[in-house]
Amino acid sequence: MTRARLILLNAALGPLDYRVPHGMAVEPGQIVVAPLGPRPMIGVVWEAGSFPDVPPVGDNRLRPLLGLIDAPPLPAPLRRLIEWTADYYLAPPAAVLRMALASMSALEGGRTVIEYRPTGALPERLTPQRAQALERIGERQGLVRELAAIGGVSDAVIRGLVKQGAFEPVEVSTDHPFPAPDPAHAHVALNGEQQAAADRLVAHVAAARFQAVLLDGITGSGKTEVYFEAIAQAMRQGRQVLVLLPEIALTEPFLTRFAARFGCAPVAWHSGLRQSERRRAWRAISRGEARVVVGARSALFLPYPNLGLIVVDEAHETSFKQEEGVRYHARDVAVMRGLMEGCPVVLASATPAIETRHQVELGRYEEIKLPARYGGAELPEIVGIDLTQDPPDRGRWLAPPLVKAMQETLARGEQILLFLNRRGYAPLTLCRHCGYRFQCPNCSAWMVEHRLTRRLACHHCGHSVPTPDTCPECGQQDVLVACGPGVERIADEVKALFPQARTAIVTSDTLWSPARAAAFVRDVSAGAVDIIVGTQLVTKGYHFPELTLVGVIDADLGLDGGDLRAAERTYQQIVQVSGRAGRGEKPGRVFIQTHAPAVPVMRALLDGDEAAFFAAETASRRTAHAPPFGRFAAIIISDTDAALARETARRIGNAAPRRDGLEVYGPAEAPLAVLRGRHRYRLLVHARRTVELQAILREWLSSIDWKASTRVSVDVDPYSFV
Ligand code: ADP
Ligand code: ZN
Repeated sequence: MTRARLILLNAALGPLDYRVPHGMAVEPGQIVVAPLGPRPMIGVVWEAGSFPDVPPVGDNRLRPLLGLIDAPPLPAPLRRLIEWTADYYLAPPAAVLRMALASMSALEGGRTVIEYRPTGALPERLTPQRAQALERIGERQGLVRELAAIGGVSDAVIRGLVKQGAFEPVEVSTDHPFPAPDPAHAHVALNGEQQAAADRLVAHVAAARFQAVLLDGITGSGKTEVYFEAIAQAMRQGRQVLVLLPEIALTEPFLTRFAARFGCAPVAWHSGLRQSERRRAWRAISRGEARVVVGARSALFLPYPNLGLIVVDEAHETSFKQEEGVRYHARDVAVMRGLMEGCPVVLASATPAIETRHQVELGRYEEIKLPARYGGAELPEIVGIDLTQDPPDRGRWLAPPLVKAMQETLARGEQILLFLNRRGYAPLTLCRHCGYRFQCPNCSAWMVEHRLTRRLACHHCGHSVPTPDTCPECGQQDVLVACGPGVERIADEVKALFPQARTAIVTSDTLWSPARAAAFVRDVSAGAVDIIVGTQLVTKGYHFPELTLVGVIDADLGLDGGDLRAAERTYQQIVQVSGRAGRGEKPGRVFIQTHAPAVPVMRALLDGDEAAFFAAETASRRTAHAPPFGRFAAIIISDTDAALARETARRIGNAAPRRDGLEVYGPAEAPLAVLRGRHRYRLLVHARRTVELQAILREWLSSIDWKASTRVSVDVDPYSFV
């Protein structure tokens, strides 16, 4: 009799054994349905056969599998990757598996779903909620639940609108095939350096072996064109390709560019997909029919049967680090997947992470450089503005030299990008009369004023309230003052200075969907925008040839708080945003406003001396045994009950192992002491590379138990310290 050992989609459970009924054949990787208590549940066969470690009490005690899911088995390299990820990041295998089985509806069978699309007809009674839903949904189509989410209303509101004829049902097939991209569709003539780089990548793809490659090319050097050649090679060999992008807002421009080169768009995978689109993509991926998939980090765990190449674009981006659920780093897991699959992994970046450069120095990753911009475009001229010498007027944020440069740029009909990594109008709002500050009721964080939507919002939990006219504490009218700038406030200043200029604010509040991002790119490319004011969202990847001036409003901002990567991140962000200037024929200029032009990172930026910066940062990391020379793990304890959280944290701290090469700091209240109503404590574990960190953590934490309401999560290689 055959047994199957399953991992079920329930993070609380370990592997469970089942009996394979007569007439049913299973192999490892097969997706099955198994009984769990009274309910059927989806799981994956991890091993099949007999298991010596099961006590010989007769197979009759095992419950039988209920059925097979009509999908190919998860390939062995993916199963190994799931095991590795669970092990390395101390996550339940089921939680990692869930990321592979990321479309439940794809497993449910059935080939059509009913979606709804707007008819253009208005309902008889246009309540504010209905109006809001119609406005936000626009032309979009989807399931009732999806439309409700987009519209910010309940399902009932959408159903009401369906009844009133504002939406009509459409039957959508979820299995029609994706068109195949054509490697020979459009030929691009590469320059000598690009061709040499492309040849190396193509050779790696052709060799069909694991190799991690850092494609280290300055902004505008044509990294995308170069790795497109590697993608073409994988296509010619009939292999699948995965391209990871850091931000869903970058997907849309990528799709367009890809289509221009290969004749049709690749398959997109991100959180903005409708259920039917996810389902279609998942099935096509699992059958090997989706040839090229581009997506956010969640695309990494999908069941490609036939991967020939993985590209991680903008590989230095910290958004590749997942901060909830399974806390993994997609760049690192991508390299691991390439190793399991036996295919090359290309990390493309103009500002590689210190960790990645270190791998190159150790000889583990190959480095391919593109040291010049394509087409003779020069890197922009960098100008520092010392705010202690050249301050803006009171209550203003743009210093005179920057304003003058803006005038010149506008006079030439060119475009400007102002960068400030702060959403909203002002980071802090207080009452001028009594000093009251608006704090989030769920988090230890100030509420941020958003004038565009007239709301105060918490950037940690999303809680928001309409901005009141009076102070809730003292009741005085018109006494609220904004402290400090956010992008909306900069946009106001721009409007006051240049009333004729057309400005666009770009943040996650305004570019919340791929469609919005696409519209933004169209507007800027068509010259319908003169001045972009944006957060880190605009520092990435965009290519606007008419954009010739970049202003960094507050270069010191990211250095506050001082976590271990603060200087590195500041450096990367400013180089990236500078890289948006002068990408076409016209030369670019970058003005960097800072209060501290003498600190090393500012000096490196102003001198354009990356090598010096990298060497100094690497040296200081080495001295501190910080990554990549040593390792960190954080343990975060949270509970709605503050005393319980503190108590559990204290017990975990008391049980901390004592070892050479291992240090444990804390527990201490987290800098973000309350988040979404949960009180938080942290411990930080610092280990030498010789220490088996995961094994120690696992043993340590398994010796302690805590109440069900308490959450203890481990963050291996943490990027966030709040
Ligand atoms: P990076 O990703 O390195 O910043 P891109 O790949 O976006 O650079 O290239 C910058 C711009 O130069 C893009 O508009 C791209 O189409 C163009 N470009 C780069 N290489 C070539 C080439 N060989 N032929 C034509 N255009 C190119
Ligand atoms: Zn909050």
